[in-house]
Amino acid sequence: MSQQNLESLDVEAIREEFPILEREFDGEQVVYLDNAATTQTPDPVVDAMSDYYREYNANVHRGIHHLSQEASIAYEEAHDRVADFIGADGREEIIFTKNTTEAENLVAYAWGLNELGPDDEIVLTEMEHHASLVTWQQIGKQTGADVEYIRVTEDGRLDMDHARELITDDTAMLSAVHVSNTLGTVNPVSKLVDIAHEHDALAFIDGAQAVPNRPVDVDAIDADFYAFSGHKMAGPTGIGALYGKQELLEEMQPYLYGGGMIRKVTFEDSTWDELPWKFEPGTPQIAEAVGLVAAIDWLEEIGMDRVQAHEEEITRYAYEQLTAEPDVEIYGPEPGSERAGLVGFNVDGVHAHDLASIMNDHTVAIRAGDHCTQPLHDKLGVAASARASFYVYNTKDEVDKLVAAIDDARQLFA
Ligand code: PLP
Repeated sequence: MSQQNLESLDVEAIREEFPILEREFDGEQVVYLDNAATTQTPDPVVDAMSDYYREYNANVHRGIHHLSQEASIAYEEAHDRVADFIGADGREEIIFTKNTTEAENLVAYAWGLNELGPDDEIVLTEMEHHASLVTWQQIGKQTGADVEYIRVTEDGRLDMDHARELITDDTAMLSAVHVSNTLGTVNPVSKLVDIAHEHDALAFIDGAQAVPNRPVDVDAIDADFYAFSGHKMAGPTGIGALYGKQELLEEMQPYLYGGGMIRKVTFEDSTWDELPWKFEPGTPQIAEAVGLVAAIDWLEEIGMDRVQAHEEEITRYAYEQLTAEPDVEIYGPEPGSERAGLVGFNVDGVHAHDLASIMNDHTVAIRAGDHCTQPLHDKLGVAASARASFYVYNTKDEVDKLVAAIDDARQLFA
């Protein structure tokens, strides 16, 4: 992407679509740097959901009346739009879930519980989010499969030699995070998937922090499963998506049962509807699916390359500013193609929670805690870290406010 194209990203115009960014607390405008937790929602997404409720709200599954027909078409076509956005072959490969966590659980229970046994191994990474780590840990306990972890190096990358050692013919599933929500590391997921496939293992990639920020092509990655959440990519809460290769989804048992996912039910037995409906029982997230499509349209209008470039630029700036600060320890790789748009750090002598609280006094919203990666924090030797995470509407001025608030915190705790 040329520098000229990057410069043409009009952040001020983008910000106008987010009235929430105008909010003030005690006379100070909010600086929202908690995007890895949840991004803000632009007007076109809110409008699309509001239009749905005002114009064509009805239950789906093809009711006879006009409103249901319209809602059904919008809901079904949302699967096509998501498939197209991440490079899947079609709607059969896209299952709407509540979020990434539910997508992990769907595969763990529908596939893992049925397929794994005491001779199998599940390989995770030390930087997994609890959504993946806890879920596969439980499946390991229930099936007797061993759970192993690919090491994270001192500089916050995956130790790929260790990955090659751990993934063997006993490995049945590799589950790895695409972008770490704590370190910002962008993992070499295609390589990991290749290693898994060399040993006939399946690969699940957690894309919760990747899909919002960079172009993702599941076909190129060749993942067997890939998951993400709408609320981290300018979309609504309550919807996420699981991508799965069609032949695998065809073979899998449903995870949840009920109406909307069956073909034929008798008092003795039931058969399942075609993909993806087989995995979507009950009344689904119709308004949220409409909102997710609007978010994808909105992001594609900007261009995912530019979303990524903007984030890399802001992250580099934040990294440089924080590195120049005394007593600040930053986690994860240096800025570049292996680091995505967040910076996890600690300030010596100031607990991350106190730091976040002082930031809040400056109306700077960051997150502090273990970020659902407790074992990784144990490894880093800290109970908690502070995390500033950026999206397409953030500016360098906002990073400066973050740094000013850190200075204030340091003085308070000196
Ligand atoms: N995986 C990663 C890497 C995440 O950052 C998160 C959320 O922070 C999740 C999974 C879980 O996402 P959700 O809470 O939307 O299920």
